[in-house]
Amino acid sequence: MTHITDTQNSSKQSLTYFIADLHLSESRSDITACFLAFLKDTAIDAEKLYILGDLFESWIGDDDRSPWLTELYQALSELAKSGTELFFIHGNRDFLIGKGFAKQANISLLPEVTKIDLYHHTAVIMHGDTLCTRDVSYQQFRKKSRTWWWQTMIKSLPLWVRKRIAQNYRKQSASATAMKAQDIMDVTPSEVQQCLQHYDCKLLIHGHTHRPKVHNITVNQQPARRIVLGDWYNQGSWLKATPDNIELISQPLV
Ligand code: MN
Repeated sequence: MTHITDTQNSSKQSLTYFIADLHLSESRSDITACFLAFLKDTAIDAEKLYILGDLFESWIGDDDRSPWLTELYQALSELAKSGTELFFIHGNRDFLIGKGFAKQANISLLPEVTKIDLYHHTAVIMHGDTLCTRDVSYQQFRKKSRTWWWQTMIKSLPLWVRKRIAQNYRKQSASATAMKAQDIMDVTPSEVQQCLQHYDCKLLIHGHTHRPKVHNITVNQQPARRIVLGDWYNQGSWLKATPDNIELISQPLV
């Protein structure tokens, strides 16, 4: 596990943003525009920006040179060059993001569970899919798709084949999700407890479930919080953390 410590960056405010589940795609230019505006007008003030997975609707490999990605790479890279540190944790849609993407976007890839210093607190951050243990078929796919042999096999396929696989997977995933009971798509409460106990932490921040909320919970008879980030399908959505406050914010797409 990686532990990110606080560093003071004088050109930026004591301000950290967390986002997840933007599901950027070429077909949703409204979300991309909202994200580019967020980077330029909002994240620019922050010392750190954490992207906790599913930045993209799908990611078939860092060799995808689709033109709409160029502007994104530039915007992320410019933000990083201005002094905002960018961090990324893989989601279930973009787990194939690799070092090529990280280099182009000027972003640091973090392990799937990372403990960070967040002003007066420590926090555990993750995408959140690993907390949804009742979704057994997804967890089986997840296990397979994180192995080196599966990834080597996929990456060896031509780009157009990977594009087609991703399209089919999204269709299957949408119909499978519609069939699944609501509760298996949410986190397993005992997993949340175990996670916070294991990392000896009182704050968990994740995305994935698209159910933005600050949950006040009890772990080891102590007050703790689980903060769920919102998705970007119908609005921009972020968590704003300062030394004094932490709040979920949403804003219309246009
Ligand atoms: Mn997800």
